[in-house]
Amino acid sequence: MIWKAIVPLKVKILAWSTAYKRTNTNDWVQRKRPSVCLSPQWCVLCKKEGESVDHLFLHCDISIALWQRLFNLANLSWVRPQHSYSLLEVEFRGFSRSKRAKVLWNSVVLAIFWAIWIERNSRIFRDLVEEMDGVWDRVCFLASLWALVDKSFEGIPLFFIIRNWREICASKPMKRRDVGSHFYPP
Ligand SMILES: [Zn+2]
Repeated sequence: MIWKAIVPLKVKILAWSTAYKRTNTNDWVQRKRPSVCLSPQWCVLCKKEGESVDHLFLHCDISIALWQRLFNLANLSWVRPQHSYSLLEVEFRGFSRSKRAKVLWNSVVLAIFWAIWIERNSRIFRDLVEEMDGVWDRVCFLASLWALVDKSFEGIPLFFIIRNWREICASKPMKRRDVGSHFYPP
């Protein structure tokens, strides 16, 4: 699903490198350059466990909270997989079976990977910390923005997509003349 998703190339590359465990997490960098002393046993997000790909994107407290939020929103029960690439391989019918649902689900999954990576880098290189709600808001914004590029979302305002993922995915593709009538919130 990585290469078919309508997201920026840098996001696809991050997801691809994550799937193959080639992301520059501390443990990987330390293995590549053993002479450099990093802190592979320390994760900047939870400050508890070592930073590996699977820990950072799947098992870390913040990551778990983000995935849980998505699956709760989609009314899906979630058994956390062992490896993060499982989230990229399995095609969940998260919001519905519509074209919009497929596009949006892929965008959200990749936005979560991206938001975790951005937050991790922001804490390490800029000493800036975003709270959990802020990270989730970033996921909502980016996923909706990327989905908006797909034809099936044509004519729907961005702010409305951000707030109404399930409703939009459940509906039939709307025609341009419908914009401003039943798709705007009351
Ligand atoms: Zn962690």
